[in-house]
Amino acid sequence: MFSLHATGVGDGIAIGKARLIRRQGAEIPEYVIEPGETLDEIERLRTAWMKAKLGLKRTLDGLPEDAPDDIGAFLGVQLMILDDPLLMEEPVELIRSQRVNAESALAAHAKKLESVFEQVDDPYLSAKSADINQVIERVLGELTDDHGDLRNQAPGKFDGEIIVAHDLTPSDAVELKNHQIGAFITNLGGPISHTAILARSMGIPAIVGLHGGARFLRTGDTLIIDGKRGVVLVNPDEPALEAYRRRRRKILRRSEALEFLRTADSITLDGEKVELFTNIEIPEELELSRTNYYAGVGLYRTEFLFMNRSDFPGEEEQFETYRQIVEDAALPVTIRTLDLGADKQVDGGRKHSALTTNPALGRRAIRLCLHDLSLFKPQLRAIYRASAYGNVRMMVPMFSSMEELNQLFSVLENTRNELQEQGVEFDADLPIGGMIEVPAAAVSADLFAQYLDFLSIGTNDLIQYTLAIDRVDDEVNYLYDPTHPSVLRLIKMTIDAGKSAGIPVSMCGEMAGDPAFTRVLLGIGLRQFSMDPTTLTRIKQQIRLTDIAKVKEKAESLLHVSDPQTNRKILSEINA
Ligand code: PEP
Ligand code: MG
Repeated sequence: MFSLHATGVGDGIAIGKARLIRRQGAEIPEYVIEPGETLDEIERLRTAWMKAKLGLKRTLDGLPEDAPDDIGAFLGVQLMILDDPLLMEEPVELIRSQRVNAESALAAHAKKLESVFEQVDDPYLSAKSADINQVIERVLGELTDDHGDLRNQAPGKFDGEIIVAHDLTPSDAVELKNHQIGAFITNLGGPISHTAILARSMGIPAIVGLHGGARFLRTGDTLIIDGKRGVVLVNPDEPALEAYRRRRRKILRRSEALEFLRTADSITLDGEKVELFTNIEIPEELELSRTNYYAGVGLYRTEFLFMNRSDFPGEEEQFETYRQIVEDAALPVTIRTLDLGADKQVDGGRKHSALTTNPALGRRAIRLCLHDLSLFKPQLRAIYRASAYGNVRMMVPMFSSMEELNQLFSVLENTRNELQEQGVEFDADLPIGGMIEVPAAAVSADLFAQYLDFLSIGTNDLIQYTLAIDRVDDEVNYLYDPTHPSVLRLIKMTIDAGKSAGIPVSMCGEMAGDPAFTRVLLGIGLRQFSMDPTTLTRIKQQIRLTDIAKVKEKAESLLHVSDPQTNRKILSEINA
């Protein structure tokens, strides 16, 4: 038994078998095997080799008649390489002599071959090196029992398992929602990365930002995940398993005890009503929102409709999806316009991440949409059309200047005129809101509030930009601090700006769904929270246990505290 420590997500405990998901080019698991395991490990390598060969042969046999000859020749060369017993010899020897796992033996051999090929200045041989690498990647894929593709897996394939990956992207998130996984672990990511958001939306614990620690794990290991403490116990002994089973039962009982709160009013001890909305990514999450008695959808992340597919959804498909959600909800639905780019790539960032020097500061979200109207206009038309079927609000992510808002308003006007001319029905008064995610938007929220119908604070990005910490970079996780005075000041400025302008202000970042901050936010004036449906009841419980008059002064004092120790002391007094 050994343990790994990193950033924990969620309060829960999960116990299950590890399932490694390995992507081409990702880290290779490395571990030492027991003396008695060498033969099994060699067998594992041989089986994976065989499977890779069969898979390749199947692909070759199944090639359509009209497939270009080059493809057949290319696959044929790879098959020949796999047929060469010499290529297996050295990895087998490494397993035997050094007792390393099959993956690292194979990777070490590949590296050696690569350096030999590099020294030879011959284009034919360099091409050969690429072929060998691809063959080795195939075998590595078989060894981890996965080719890194979460798509096209039978629903439920990973049920109960603990997914271990170098990284999980927002597009993987869509796929994983088809499985009832127990938990997951990633090398990358921080508390506000999409990996963490995914865990919360699935109501499961996760460990993120393991800094490469995932390479010590293998498929089939028994793992205990403690989301609260950020601990992974690997192949635990019976006493540890029993202790964690007990803790898991306790947590379950605690959450069952909250059941009765589902239908209760969301009201503080001193009688302040607080509205609780949900964040959704796929239409199926409406059901969970409904069972938790939500006030509406505070954030519908539409970019998920664009992921894991080779084409973009057109106006018609978007309209049908939005209309269905709006009708099903029969409550206000806040549709966020496309937030693509940076951490949210349609292909999970695998193809484009290297194209921009600093994607988080680049052409993402509203910047991308205003730049590419062929992407934006169909969505705007679809949202307007859906507004004829219920209570819709439109919200733009990541705006930072009046110039952007003016451009947006002009595109919106143009869209409305078009629809009117075409005799298409829509809500002409559809509220247009802006997300406060960039410090510039928060600092001048009073100015922007004059032109918008509502504001919503996206703390995930607001914290990223205010504290200059990339939300997907595990190396700077430790700087994430929602109660940093600068963050709290920006939140308070936004709330006050909304109040002065007479428009609603909500918060839809992860901070709104963390009970540790509910009282602080209530204390500085927030009355609308939007969060993952799974956390709604827990936040409601916290609201019902809060007397705002009693916490207001302390919460506001946090805006003037720079010393972390004093900050922690005040925070624990507020939450006492
Ligand atoms: C946010 O930034 O807080 C937010 C809600 O948007 P996302 O997490 O989708 O970027
Ligand atoms: Mg955001």
